Amino acid sequence: MTSPPPEPVDPFSGDPLDPVRELAALDADSDDADEPLSPQAREDVLEDLADLEVFEALLAPRGVRGLVVACEQCEQPHWFGWDLLRANLRHLLDAGRHRVHEPAFAPEPSDYVSWDYARGFTDAALDG
Ligand SMILES: [Zn+2]
Repeated sequence: MTSPPPEPVDPFSGDPLDPVRELAALDADSDDADEPLSPQAREDVLEDLADLEVFEALLAPRGVRGLVVACEQCEQPHWFGWDLLRANLRHLLDAGRHRVHEPAFAPEPSDYVSWDYARGFTDAALDG
């Protein structure tokens, strides 16, 4: 068995602007994704998905395009369309973690409601 060739010397070694270093950091991040959701967490996500179906069915016909969610990472509100919300929850089920934070895209805030509002609206609609 021959020993592997020596590692090439990284010319950017120690350079804070090294672009490869950033890629390596991203790779390290994605390794964390292997941790599965707990059964309880999965249950919660599945419930959220079910809620989302009802919210969209009731609210989309009234012109609501999605939900506004307070971001845990930057503490700013983010606006998500129905499709993106669903995709994010499915991703959470598959990957065991939230998607990387996505910046807002200049939505029309009046087209979106909070999760609490959607739930309140849904509860009232189903009662009535
Ligand atoms: Zn954010």
